Amino acid sequence: MNLLDANDVRGQYPGSWYAASVGAVPDIGSLWDNIRVDTCVIGAGYSGLSCALHLAQSGKNVCVIDAHRVGWGASGRNGGQLGSGQRLDQMELEKLAGKDVARTLWHLAQDSKILVKSLIDTHRIDCGLKPGIIHANHRARFNKHSRMEAKHLNEEYGYSAIRYVDRQECREMVGSPAYFGGTIDTDAAHLHPLKYALGLATAALGAGAKIFEQTRALSVDYGNTIKINTDRYSVTADHLVFACNGYLGDLEPFVARKVMPINNFIVATKPLSEQFATSLIRDDVAVADSKFVINYFRLSEDRRMLFGGGESYGYRFPSDIKKFVSKPMLKIFPQLADVQLDYGWGGTLAITMSRLPHFSKVHANVRSISGYSGHGLGMATLAGKLAADSISGDKESFEIFQSIKSANFPGGPSLRSPLLVLAMLYHAMLDRL
Ligand SMILES: Cc1cc2nc3c(=O)[nH]c(=O)nc-3n(C[C@H](O)[C@H](O)[C@H](O)COP(=O)(O)OP(=O)(O)OC[C@H]3O[C@@H](n4cnc5c(N)ncnc54)[C@H](O)[C@@H]3O)c2cc1C
Repeated sequence: MNLLDANDVRGQYPGSWYAASVGAVPDIGSLWDNIRVDTCVIGAGYSGLSCALHLAQSGKNVCVIDAHRVGWGASGRNGGQLGSGQRLDQMELEKLAGKDVARTLWHLAQDSKILVKSLIDTHRIDCGLKPGIIHANHRARFNKHSRMEAKHLNEEYGYSAIRYVDRQECREMVGSPAYFGGTIDTDAAHLHPLKYALGLATAALGAGAKIFEQTRALSVDYGNTIKINTDRYSVTADHLVFACNGYLGDLEPFVARKVMPINNFIVATKPLSEQFATSLIRDDVAVADSKFVINYFRLSEDRRMLFGGGESYGYRFPSDIKKFVSKPMLKIFPQLADVQLDYGWGGTLAITMSRLPHFSKVHANVRSISGYSGHGLGMATLAGKLAADSISGDKESFEIFQSIKSANFPGGPSLRSPLLVLAMLYHAMLDRL
């Protein structure tokens, strides 16, 4: 199933609160001729836009093509949480990759937060950036790990922005009976993801990059110069960057074996009174919980509860997303039972077996960046910059990610979905114990 078409209308943003609240979106236009550039980037999400911005800033002739619109993919639909570290927590990462690599990956993740904040600042991107993410435990027994993780980051990494919160404080901060403690990280942040994507696009255009919307790459002819055949014209380039993440499909089979698309869903309630909103989230921070199928939520600028969660085992979105997400939401906030849901939408992200991003060089002049495993707001922005640096000759950081071994997902693409179902069912069952 092609996820570029499966759940959406061509060239239209989904019916999300983000699309409804973004304001006027410039119509950028599609590819109108065969063109020649130094670098062609496929995908106008954070990965592709950041790559194009950084290449254009270094004087390169770069274009980005997107089958739909700027920020149409996960970048315009996500939970807006800019987390610290990698998708795996730091102690887990040390076990998996060894202390030295884990430390390097921690610092790169720190760089990703700094990069996002500085891009917002430099390009005056008005995207409602606010500090703070709570990681809330749905089991009291996870508190020991949270306490250790916070201490480990404080003492071993000199990272003082995270601290443990006990059950009482957690319940004061998050008005839910479902949580028993966790951590708060005040250097992590949250924002309006589509406004951020559009801000990156404006910055990239301002730096001289070309962007073509509604231009779909159908096939690629590799070689010293690369030809990208689209549904309109073609692009010839010295370098190509795949920045398609969950929407890659079979455009690049090597990468497709390493990353797997999954869908995730969000609802937005009607605006809440100030008193009700602060009874749910006291300090306007974002929250992510400890479930395998994570619940994540925050308040919008107009005080709606934006709640993400829910398990989906196929590639088609559920017919009633609001009903689908309201199940996990009401387990966390039963007090929202009578509150109207104004918006419900879904999006596709990409995971890897290791849950670490997958960077690769498919050929000497073809790079791919994807597989952020739900942790892409900062990492995709950084990945785009590192791909740009690597094309410009500064390869070191790109190669660190490239050196992380990425296992293939078992089974061919046709077998993957059922396997995922089994894996997720197993973990979902554990969640309920
Ligand atoms: C519901 C949801 C919630 C999430 N919450 C968070 C969160 O809170 N924090 C966080 O860090 N991460 C979160 N993520 C993950 C994060 O959104 C992604 O990791 C990140 O946006 C990936 O950016 P990207 O640019 O690589 O991909 P995308 O933004 O998905 O962009 C890929 C683009 O490639 C284009 N494309 C694909 N194939 C082609 C083709 N053949 N031709 C032309 N164009 C093509 C698509 O149209 C798309 O616009 C979430 C994701 C989802 C779906």
